[in-house]
Amino acid sequence: MNPVGKPGKVGALMPVEDALQRLLAMAEAAPIREQQALPLAECDGRVLARDLISTLDLPPWPNSAMDGYAVRLADWTGEPLLVSQRIFAGNAPEPLAPGTCARIFTGAPVPQGADCVQMQENAVVHADQRVSFTEPLQVGDNIRPQGQETTVGDCVLTAGTRLGPIELGLAASLGCDRLDVVRRVRVAVLSTGDELIEPGLPLGLGQIYNSNRRVLCSWLTRMGCEVIDAGILPDDLEQTRTRLAGLGGVDLILSTGGVSVGEADFLGIALREDGELALWKLAIKPGKPLTCGHFRGVPVIGLPGNPASTLVTFALLARPYLLRLQGVAQVEPLRFEVPAGFAWPKPGNRREYLRGRIEQGKAVIYHNQSSGVLRSAAWAEGFVEVMEGTTLDIGDQVNFIPLSEVLS
Ligand code: AMP
Ligand code: MG
Repeated sequence: MNPVGKPGKVGALMPVEDALQRLLAMAEAAPIREQQALPLAECDGRVLARDLISTLDLPPWPNSAMDGYAVRLADWTGEPLLVSQRIFAGNAPEPLAPGTCARIFTGAPVPQGADCVQMQENAVVHADQRVSFTEPLQVGDNIRPQGQETTVGDCVLTAGTRLGPIELGLAASLGCDRLDVVRRVRVAVLSTGDELIEPGLPLGLGQIYNSNRRVLCSWLTRMGCEVIDAGILPDDLEQTRTRLAGLGGVDLILSTGGVSVGEADFLGIALREDGELALWKLAIKPGKPLTCGHFRGVPVIGLPGNPASTLVTFALLARPYLLRLQGVAQVEPLRFEVPAGFAWPKPGNRREYLRGRIEQGKAVIYHNQSSGVLRSAAWAEGFVEVMEGTTLDIGDQVNFIPLSEVLS
């Protein structure tokens, strides 16, 4: 990256980090405390409400890492050994008879008295069925010791962990069939704008189909939220008041549109009258205007209506807020540096989240970065983050945030 001599004029714009910190502080001030115990099969995507402490050693007993022969090292003198038992995974073995070895298979418990396993590739079975070894052995060879992975009392997953297939598998490996999770976040999705109609209806002049509703409802569902689809809200103060008043039981009202300075900012008026309103001008592109406040105590985040702006501000601000509300510590997506495959000659005063891809090891961007163009994001694999006040030459390092990091 080439920071230009003079940093870009940020003026009165709020840096993205500041907006995020404020939102996270809001979430921390009123976190969701209710929990429920759910079967593992229902925990995917949910947030663990209390530390998971192991009540087991894993493995619970020493077991063989190989198919081979279990032996007490001191008994292997070079003379062929009698095979005194065969131990498969799932068997409970007898103690090893002195001076013998045991045929053993991967995952089977190592018999008491044995202290190493010779892999079968290094064993020769003689005509009399005795076995000798072609390679030397050491105590502990090819044995997975008891408690190698986890011991009783270990904190295996901390409260605030988002549960996915791996975490659920880990809980299963410890014998847990239920976990205590934070109850779902209830989010009402409100699409504002007189121009909006739902897909399936004929399109009149001046109308557009409501795409934000679909984006947000599907995304929130993937995130494990309970979605209350509050439909389209016309640009009308009275209807705005009534609709908001009907959403009392939710944890967040998430609206799109109507937050630019325009006269049609009825959401803003309603919040000012009956709650609290902050209108932020963010140093982010796409997505400058963001409403933050509450209506009769119910938190409200108003995202800008342009589809790419909705996407970016949801991914970088609203999503972390919703995760932190459930106690998740790590709420920011992973970013990694890649060389830019494009030049960025003009420094901006807002941080850009360009919809891009990685091609031949370099970040490339969609040809149309207009905030109204959702196709840019459908084409993209991630956001290319260009910091405010910077220019880029091809090959300069730039941050890349994979969409897969934020889409669930
Ligand atoms: P606004 O924030 O209401 O000024 O809207 C900014 C732009 O986004 C306008 O072109 C709107 O028509 C468009 N827009 C607002 N809401 C939606 C929506 N739910 N789906 C698609 N486009 C929208
Ligand atoms: Mg509007």
